[in-house]
Amino acid sequence: MTLGTKVDASDGATFELGGTAARTHQAIIAGGGPTGLMLAGELALAGVDVAIIERRESQDLAGMRAGGLHMRTLEVLDQRGLGERFVSQGQRHQVAPFHEVLLDVSDFPTRRNYFLALPQNQIERTLAEWVEELGVRLYRGCEVARFVQDDHGVDVVLSDGSGLHASFLVGCDGSRSVVRKGAGIEFAGWEPTKSWLIAEARWAQEPKWGVEHDLHGTYALGKMDDPGQVRIVLAERELKTGDDPTFDEVQSLLVEVYGADFGVHTPTWISRFTDRCRQAAAYRDRRVLLAGDAAHIHPPMGGQGLNIGLQDAVNLGWKLAQVIKGISSESLLDTYHAERHPVAALVLRNTMADVALQRRDPRSRALGEIMSELAVIDGARKHLVAVRSGLGVRYDLGDGHPLVGRRLPDLRIQVGQTAQSTYDFLHDARPVLFDFGSDLGQERRSCTDAVKVVSANALQAWDLPVVGPVQSPEAALVRPDGYVAWAGALGDDGLEQALQKWFGASAADTAH
Ligand SMILES: Cc1cc2nc3c(=O)[nH]c(=O)nc-3n(C[C@H](O)[C@H](O)[C@H](O)COP(=O)(O)OP(=O)(O)OC[C@H]3O[C@@H](n4cnc5c(N)ncnc54)[C@H](O)[C@@H]3O)c2cc1C
Repeated sequence: MTLGTKVDASDGATFELGGTAARTHQAIIAGGGPTGLMLAGELALAGVDVAIIERRESQDLAGMRAGGLHMRTLEVLDQRGLGERFVSQGQRHQVAPFHEVLLDVSDFPTRRNYFLALPQNQIERTLAEWVEELGVRLYRGCEVARFVQDDHGVDVVLSDGSGLHASFLVGCDGSRSVVRKGAGIEFAGWEPTKSWLIAEARWAQEPKWGVEHDLHGTYALGKMDDPGQVRIVLAERELKTGDDPTFDEVQSLLVEVYGADFGVHTPTWISRFTDRCRQAAAYRDRRVLLAGDAAHIHPPMGGQGLNIGLQDAVNLGWKLAQVIKGISSESLLDTYHAERHPVAALVLRNTMADVALQRRDPRSRALGEIMSELAVIDGARKHLVAVRSGLGVRYDLGDGHPLVGRRLPDLRIQVGQTAQSTYDFLHDARPVLFDFGSDLGQERRSCTDAVKVVSANALQAWDLPVVGPVQSPEAALVRPDGYVAWAGALGDDGLEQALQKWFGASAADTAH
């Protein structure tokens, strides 16, 4: 398909693909929020020519939105050598909230055994800096309006009529994704039952800080960095779904709940969220893919949306790069849906339960009390924390060693004369075959450069979240997203199959 010709869009409209000299990239990402930025970084690391189209003129974000990063997300950032950039800006909390209790996370076997409180604004800014260092092209202040795909690629039309061409288009364009709608992908789920107002403003009389409950729900007045400001979250008396609540609504509800509006004024953010839950029925339609909020939305309880968006991006990035570079066939992209769809489905389920537990009628409160009692029992605590932190993810990559399908632990290892971390070898987002049995203690390049081989001695025991201690594998094949594709002895047939399945390589390619 050539730009400059008239084509039929997926909604049936006819439009002019703008410009005679189309800008071409190997991959285009619609949306430069957290998911789009992370994906762009992953693709750039793999040497793919990727561009982001972002509606916003700058990375600045009104309001706080996400409040931080969970344990697995921090590990994922460590896998790229980025962890300290985020950790140095945030506050560490060794607890995870569940209903009305705080669950201890300090005994989880990870270097990052805490939740990192860090506003979305700072998360996005830090990701944007990384992406800029990697030389990603970011088209700001323009929108993806529509697109057309065929067997060879995707023509993308921006709202100013100009066009771009790419082999693949990824919709990281948030809950109202134009890409998802253009691809005709169903966004199935549950209509809202409850709404909340959220605002940030200055106060004149000291607010009643903390969390309150009544029969209608939960209310929170939180301190902000600027001591003259308050963050307000108010359960609404009845469900409202409009996007543009007024400050009058916030002030009136404060008076209804607290008997005073604390003289709040000069709002910097007013928004409304609901417990609407939806998930894309398919994360891929041929050359178009979805990630982050474009693929799944749910209420913010448990603070998981941004976190699973970043992990979607890390799952998809290396796969898309391998397909674009001709290393793998397009069917590799179907594993993205197979692996990530169930993860978000679980988050939808958990947040629906969180909302149900917030109900304040006597029977719901009785249920909530029982759930709080159960949640602190060790097995339940570990299960709940593993799910919410992302550390419990296990992809269905086959049977065998308990590591298979799980994330590689961030383990201290001896490589040559140096003590390093397993994650040091994932910084460049390439597959790694760790050889823990040969005792050679060095990093070696494979013949094809497809898979890096690292011969190392583990300096720590293997301890998996929830599972507990497991036997050290003789060797482990780790995907660029940090998940173990195979673990066992180097001569096993399974290694050959895993190398071919995931990286189009064979054991001979990784010969020492
Ligand atoms: C009140 C609230 C509290 C939350 N709290 C948490 C929390 O504590 N923890 C957590 O993990 N998550 C939380 N979330 C969710 C989190 O904010 C989202 O999950 C996250 O922002 C999703 O990132 P994304 O990049 O997928 O989408 P978005 O952040 O929505 O980014 C999409 C980007 O695409 C751009 N865009 C949209 N359409 C187009 C287009 N057509 N062309 C070009 N660009 C386009 C937008 O400008 C935007 O920059 C919260 C959300 C809300 C509303």
